[in-house]
Amino acid sequence: MDCELCKAINETDRIIFETELSFCIIPKWPLKTGHVMVLPKRHVVDWSELNKEEAKDLIDLIDKMKFTLLKGFEEDCLILNHAGKLRSQQHLHAHIVPSKKAMRDFFLLTENIPKYEDVPEKVMIEMCEHVKKLL
Ligand SMILES: [Zn+2]
Repeated sequence: MDCELCKAINETDRIIFETELSFCIIPKWPLKTGHVMVLPKRHVVDWSELNKEEAKDLIDLIDKMKFTLLKGFEEDCLILNHAGKLRSQQHLHAHIVPSKKAMRDFFLLTENIPKYEDVPEKVMIEMCEHVKKLL
């Protein structure tokens, strides 16, 4: 298998921390200092492919790195995971990025979404019904 993220386990200069099942690296194209990626050592594409031990280990490492970055940077942290066709690597991974922006502000900016002060209840119900129909 030709997976860049499987190969990253051998790129020891990029590895920040590792456990038996997971590791944390600096991305090849970091957005800023403090941007890290956390991933399982075994190649899986989706969260559902992790066994319970791997899932717990991965979540624990994401949590550890989140607290480390919160302590080390005077910013909040966004934890992001591409789940579909826009992801550049098919190996499951989460990005943790220190951010001056809250999640809501981040998406308003990056997706050019009009800012609601308060989303009307009717719109919230429509949004809820839209996602429910997808289940
Ligand atoms: Zn892989």
